[in-house]
Parts: sequence; C-alpha cells; structure tokens
Amino acid sequence: MAEFTMELNDEQKEVRDWLHGFAADVIRPAAAEWDEREETPWPIIQEAAKVGIYSLDFYAQQYFDPTGLGIPMAMEELFWGDAGIALSIVGTGLAAVGVLANGTEEQIGTWIPQMYGDVNDVKVAAFCSSEPDAGSDVASMRTRAVYDEAKDEWVLNGTKTWATNGGIANVHVVVAVVDSELGSKGHASFIVPPNTPGLSQGQKFQKHGIRASHTAEVVLENVRVPGSCLLGGKEKLDERLARARERAKSGGERVKNAAMATFEASRPAVGAMAVGTARAAYEEALEYAKTRTQFGRPIIDNQGVAFQLADMRTSVDAARLLVWRASWMAVNGKQFTAAEGSMSKLFASETAKKVTGQAIQILGGNGYTREYPVERMHRDAAIYTIFEGTSEIQRLVIARTLAGMPIR
Ligand SMILES: Cc1cc2nc3c(=O)[nH]c(=O)nc-3n(C[C@H](O)[C@H](O)[C@H](O)COP(=O)(O)OP(=O)(O)OC[C@H]3O[C@@H](n4cnc5c(N)ncnc54)[C@H](O)[C@@H]3O)c2cc1C
Repeated sequence: MAEFTMELNDEQKEVRDWLHGFAADVIRPAAAEWDEREETPWPIIQEAAKVGIYSLDFYAQQYFDPTGLGIPMAMEELFWGDAGIALSIVGTGLAAVGVLANGTEEQIGTWIPQMYGDVNDVKVAAFCSSEPDAGSDVASMRTRAVYDEAKDEWVLNGTKTWATNGGIANVHVVVAVVDSELGSKGHASFIVPPNTPGLSQGQKFQKHGIRASHTAEVVLENVRVPGSCLLGGKEKLDERLARARERAKSGGERVKNAAMATFEASRPAVGAMAVGTARAAYEEALEYAKTRTQFGRPIIDNQGVAFQLADMRTSVDAARLLVWRASWMAVNGKQFTAAEGSMSKLFASETAKKVTGQAIQILGGNGYTREYPVERMHRDAAIYTIFEGTSEIQRLVIARTLAGMPIR
C-alpha cells in the first residue's frame, strides 16, 4: 500500500506540467469558440490523441497509479483548461473504466480500442445509465435486457437520457434491468457495438454550461447484441443474481456495501474536475484584483476583495485535499467508513459553484460578460453538483453512512 502523500513525485510533476501545457496552449484558447458552437470539439480531441492524452494507455497509467494522485492531478489540469472540452476528452475514459472494471479480458481487448479509434479517425464512447424516470433513483430503471437463448443474443429496449456522447459514440455501454425483482442489483451492463440497428440518438440537449460536451437521449428499440456483449459474461451474471437473491432474503447488507464502494471510488474524479474549474476561476480573479485599479489603488488592497480571495484559495486547497485523500483510499482499497468519496465530490462541487460566482463578483461588469472566462466557468461549475450524484444524494450517502444505515 502506498503511503498517503500530499507531494507529487518527480514523474507526476512532469506529467502535470505536460498536461498543464496542453490545457493552457490548446484547450483554453479554444474554450470560448466551442462553448459558443455547442458542438463536440473533434479537432481538439484529435490533438489530444496525437500527443497521447486521448488514449487508454494514458488513462490506465493514471488510474492504476498507486499513490491515487494520477487521476485527480490529470482531471484538475484538463478541467482547469476548460470543463466542456475536457469532458469531451475524458468522457470516453469514463465509459472505458466501466468495461475495465466489469469486462472480461477479451471484452477489454475488443471494445476499448474501438472506443478511442485512432489518431486519424478518433472515436468517442458513451456510458448510458440515467433515464427520464431514473436519475437519482437508479433502481427505477426501466430499460430491459431480455436473453434470447436460441440465438445467444440480448434484446434491449428503453430510453436513456443525459448520455455524454450519446448517439455520436462508436461504442455505447448501456445499463439495463435483467431481473426487475432485485432493484439495482438486478442491473447488468452491455456493450452496444458500432452501427447496431435499433440504437438512435434522441433529443440533443442545449445546456447552461459544459456546452462543448455533447449530451443526448439514446433510444433503444429491439437492439440485439451478441451474448458476448454482456459485460463480465453470462456465467458471472447468473452467479451474481443468485447471490443477490440469496442476500435479498437475508437482509442484503453486503451487496449494498459493495455497490457503495464502487461509487465512492469514482466520485473523487468528479471532485477533481471541480477543483480544476474552481482553481481556474480563482486564478483569473486574483490576477484581475491585482491589476484593476479603482479609487487610486488595486482592488485587492480592499479587505473586502482580499478576504474573498483568501476564502476562495482556502476552499480550493481544502477541496483538493479531500479529493486526494478519497482517491488514495480508493486505489489502496481502504474502506470508506465515512463516505469519504462522496464528501470529496460534495465539497469540491459546491466549492466550484461558489468560487466561480465569487470570481464574477471580483471582475465586476467584466465578469458578467463572455469577454472574460469566469462567466463560462460559473455556468460550467453548476454541473458538478448535479451529475454523478447530486449534492443532495452525496449528503444522503454521507449521513446514512455515519448513521450506519444502508444506502438504497
Ligand atoms: C450534462 C450532463 C451529463 C450527464 N452525463 C451522464 C452520462 O454520461 N451518463 C449517465 O448515465 N447519466 C448522465 N447524466 C445524468 C446525471 O447523473 C443525472 O442528471 C443525475 O443523477 C440527477 O438525476 P436527475 O437529473 O434525474 O435529477 P432527479 O433525480 O430528478 O433530482 C432532482 C432534484 O431532486 C433532488 N433529490 C432527488 N432525490 C432526493 C432525495 N432522496 N433526497 C433529497 N433530494 C433528492 C436532487 O438532488 C435534485 O436536486 C448527466 C447529466 C447531465 C446534466
């Protein structure tokens, strides 16, 4: 087990500086344009692929870093550049992790390369879980997967919503109900290969922020996928369902805890994205406060402004520490006895929303315009308190964990 450290090692510092260079030179200058266009920034994804940032290798290297700091460091730097573009770059990684975590070696080898494509023909992937009637309440999912034994095929029907890269992805990972008696324990994940008949994009959403990231409904009408597209395979699914049925009879405690551990492990990555956006806005505000002069002196000479900056920086650093702690715990298999993953996501998300708002205030009228990036950062920051579990759901998870109550 790696000791917890607050210091990046030399190799990590090198990677961080390289990512920061890409974020500063390629992502940030393109941010306003792609926010305005509200389209997937394919040329930037291709640039990221050329230098090796948009690749499974890079993502896996950070994911398996034993210090736990690889992913938070990478997310913070990319999202410091711009949240919408960065989500377009890392969205595929989030779907790939679903396959890495649950897929067989053959599934990993077959599908993950198709999620990324290659430098000359980049592709993206989507992870589709949320539905119109199943957002926070995942157990209400309706999309069904029925096994057609004669053909060894699964037939998927339903409507997914809010899918990042939904409909434009080469590979979709779709979560569906296979046993409706078991609630969220009766769900399974499926690969929907490129160009599968029956899968189509529904509404593409026009959003408040992260507008360079494509978000859409995904409609599944008699989508037939081979048996080999069930992540983990049929045998493992049957065993898991049998265990869930047994445990449902005897209270179900252990299954609930296992599911919670998975969420706790993925939440710090979203917290790190929020830290990136918050830090970017704080830096803009600090520079502005040092150079903007009113009443014959820089506005930072006013305690009312300086104290705000002091609070902003304190919150950003505190958020990063919570994120790093949770990420280190996840990588090293530490038990989340106080829902530390949820804590990190909650605090970092709320920090990003608050700090970006404070940055607008410090920039005055300029902060309220699209001439300055803090206006976009504030719109972007609102997503962190919503996706991957809203702030209310994080509080619910923390509170139930502290109370020793099961997480539904
Ligand atoms: C831009 C964007 C990208 C997304 N990307 C993806 C993706 O790639 N894949 C995917 O599967 N999903 C994705 N999502 C979906 C996202 O995870 C959901 O929006 C989120 O889980 C909330 O669900 P909901 O929108 O249905 O809100 P609801 O669950 O309807 O919640 C509405 C409000 O009620 C509150 N609430 C609900 N239940 C409780 C409770 N028990 N106690 C207190 N308050 C409660 C919530 O906190 C919230 O404030 C994305 C969403 C957005 C906006």
